[in-house]
Amino acid sequence: MNVKTASRDWALLSKEDNFGDRVDAWFLDNPEIFGTEGYRPQERQNYLHSLGRTIAGKVVTWTLNSLHTKGLAVDIAFHGDALYPNMNTEEGKAAWRKVADSAAEHGIDWGWDLWGADAPHFQDAEATFTYPPKSYRENAVPAWANEFTDNMEAAGISTPPETTVGDMPLYQLIGVVHKYVKAGLKLGFFKT
Ligand SMILES: [Zn+2]
Repeated sequence: MNVKTASRDWALLSKEDNFGDRVDAWFLDNPEIFGTEGYRPQERQNYLHSLGRTIAGKVVTWTLNSLHTKGLAVDIAFHGDALYPNMNTEEGKAAWRKVADSAAEHGIDWGWDLWGADAPHFQDAEATFTYPPKSYRENAVPAWANEFTDNMEAAGISTPPETTVGDMPLYQLIGVVHKYVKAGLKLGFFKT
């Protein structure tokens, strides 16, 4: 393996949740794009991470723990004049947004929506939830709060929308907060 070469072997994408199949379907729906890199062996991730740090070059990644190494991420570019349409123009933004909206239909998250950077990067939405970015993890909801929510739901306890926070029993408050945080993470409302 050459650490300097990006793999475009889509068969190496994760079979977990059929990520590879969903990427294939997404590419078919959007003929204006093509994949530039999918599965990335850890050796290559280490090499990329060393660029601009221990060896000369431009910094191209901020992590050693990329979802590419799990076969759960793919980078794309566009056919045509601009490989990477300019996010600072309405036209460029619209081109990316169209592709990202289509990705969402295939359960694929867009890097730009997740952290406001890295537009070419797309990843399995379930993986975003399972391996949230660092800042998400710092706000992670503890397992016991999760259990509270499940127990509440099992007991058929719901919180009326008109209930003010001050009136709410603590366990309900925790459950409600947890529910919104969880939904927010899944929907990508919380940005890094
Ligand atoms: Zn990427």
